[in-house]
Amino acid sequence: MPKNLPARFTDENAARTHLERLQWPDGPICPHCGTVDEASRIKGGRRGLWFCNACRQQFSVTVGTVFERSHVPLNLWLYATHLLCSSKKGISSHQLGRMLGVTYKTAWFMSHRIREAMKPAGKPTPMGGEGKVIEADETYLGKRDGKKGEPDTFVSGFGWVSHPKIDTQRKIVALVERGGIARSFMVANVDKATVRRVLFTNADRKSTLMTDEAGIYPATGAHYAAHHTVNHSEYEYGRGPVSTNTVEGYFSIFKRGMKGIYQHCSEAHLPRYLAEFDFRYSNRIALEVDDTLRAEIALKGIVGKRLTYRRIDEAAHA
Ligand SMILES: [Zn+2]
Repeated sequence: MPKNLPARFTDENAARTHLERLQWPDGPICPHCGTVDEASRIKGGRRGLWFCNACRQQFSVTVGTVFERSHVPLNLWLYATHLLCSSKKGISSHQLGRMLGVTYKTAWFMSHRIREAMKPAGKPTPMGGEGKVIEADETYLGKRDGKKGEPDTFVSGFGWVSHPKIDTQRKIVALVERGGIARSFMVANVDKATVRRVLFTNADRKSTLMTDEAGIYPATGAHYAAHHTVNHSEYEYGRGPVSTNTVEGYFSIFKRGMKGIYQHCSEAHLPRYLAEFDFRYSNRIALEVDDTLRAEIALKGIVGKRLTYRRIDEAAHA
């Protein structure tokens, strides 16, 4: 590990204290009964254990989090979270493993659990609003699993075609609020119904919508305060404030990361990579979130995600 790292990255007790301060600003919270600040540290037992005076059960700060029951020392979890939060295009599991001194497999498990922590918790709050601009766009990334090398397919209106693009690629729709956050979604189809669902469930209809000229947007766009389109086919990249440059910039970072750093990921894991890029974008310097604060926000997100990560098929590597 590099020298001069903060103690929370090198010392397990310092890491635990850091996490306890972050999760429990008003004193320890018992995960069994929810009582706040009614627990005492258990001395001499397993480190980090507390005893709840209300329900008389034991707990630690990692109970019910994505770090629970991990054999990896807590300081390495904090260091990994910092690295993943501060690398603009992400960090590969090989690189992470080398920096932490753990195996590739361990680094892979860790980074996926941290991505779970980066996922927004609970119901999504609406993006945009009156006077705000939401840019929506779609992109395609790599081939869908099991679609590589398939024989020609019959496509209505086209006849027999080799590897029709429409069926073999992973499809992503992203919404970016100009000057705000990003949310991206892996979707089965890029069509009117999909963009309607994504927009209606995420973007306030008082927003102004900006998209390209694709025919999938107008029907939904009509429900928004205004809908402006950029005609890419006529080299019209933005008429004054009308552009989709922000969402295209988001996709550009995402694609550079997916191609340059992660190189391959299975379809099952793609939503978690999207969550990672959404998280960093939505908590960026321009929004006054620095590396330290970004890692703290991710660490706060470790709570209540335990059940989610248990469903992850961790045997499959990305
Ligand atoms: Zn309790």
